[in-house]
Amino acid sequence: MAEPILEVLDLKVYFSVKKGIFSSTKSLVRAVDGVTFSMKEGDILTIVGESGCGKTTLGKAVAGLVKPSSGKILFYGKDIYSMDKKEYMNYRRNVQMIHQDPYASLNPVKTVYKILSTPLLRWGIVSGEEEARRRALDLLEIVGLTPPDYFINKYPHQLSGGQRQRLIVARAISVEPKIIVADEPITMIDVSLRLGILDLLLDLRKKMGLTVIFITHDFGAARYFSAKGGGDIAVMYLGKIVEKGPAESVIQEPLHPYTKTLIAAVPEPDPKYSRTKERIRLRSLDIPSPINPPPGCRFHTRCPLYMEVCSEREPPLVQLTNDREVSCFLYTEFSEKKA
Ligand code: SF4
Repeated sequence: MAEPILEVLDLKVYFSVKKGIFSSTKSLVRAVDGVTFSMKEGDILTIVGESGCGKTTLGKAVAGLVKPSSGKILFYGKDIYSMDKKEYMNYRRNVQMIHQDPYASLNPVKTVYKILSTPLLRWGIVSGEEEARRRALDLLEIVGLTPPDYFINKYPHQLSGGQRQRLIVARAISVEPKIIVADEPITMIDVSLRLGILDLLLDLRKKMGLTVIFITHDFGAARYFSAKGGGDIAVMYLGKIVEKGPAESVIQEPLHPYTKTLIAAVPEPDPKYSRTKERIRLRSLDIPSPINPPPGCRFHTRCPLYMEVCSEREPPLVQLTNDREVSCFLYTEFSEKKA
């Protein structure tokens, strides 16, 4: 069996924040609260959940941009925080993040050539400016910014949102990474251009053998990405994974009430289908704060299938079948007690 390229073990990322502008007391935000998963080379993992569930912090921690409070991140079996400087820099090169905002992620005073040539020269992938220019033109071609000569001397403000996001993808792949963490890569671009970016990521994953972590709040995008690329979906709620499994299986047969809620919220273009779709009425529309998450199951304040035990104990993430995991008492001994 192939060795995992990435293992995330009981990862926790807590931030301390001031309770108010004039307050000196601090509160602890449990952004990521005990997340475990592993990926093999070429795998896709789509992490889906509402804003504030911790998915971006999890992505940043994997990319080495945020230091975890506890837990481990292993790259080919080696803990990234026990690596020496050279190994850690190699890890950082191998895990590239595509950020949500294509407008804030590019230096406005650098040309496309400068943006692409800087990492190429820094990591010694090319030996000089001439080779950097040739490689930059190749990268533009690969991400569909053609003809590349037309784009190479432009500044970011001369590009559309979709073109900027393609440029960011080109910069990410320029250093020949093994893992891409794409954090809401289509949220800030026009709807008409979104599928193009998702298809580009899938195409690059196939051609370059990339391992991709795709982070989104949009189950529709998760469904499109997973349906075309396969892989797993992990559903996050208030810092925890509540359900995980092969994308098709999670979409066709969601287990956790929260996953069912997310799927029910995806708009259906066909009114015939939307009329027959299961409607889910939440107990509350308010999302609890990660500073003070509800005791027991974190979803219990909103869950339509709430039982007494749900507010008393925390449901563990259990392996239900070979490839499905869920954290809900409906699938454990407590459900029988209720029945
Ligand atoms: Fe709902 Fe209880 Fe399951 Fe939580 S454990 S999702 S509250 S049924």
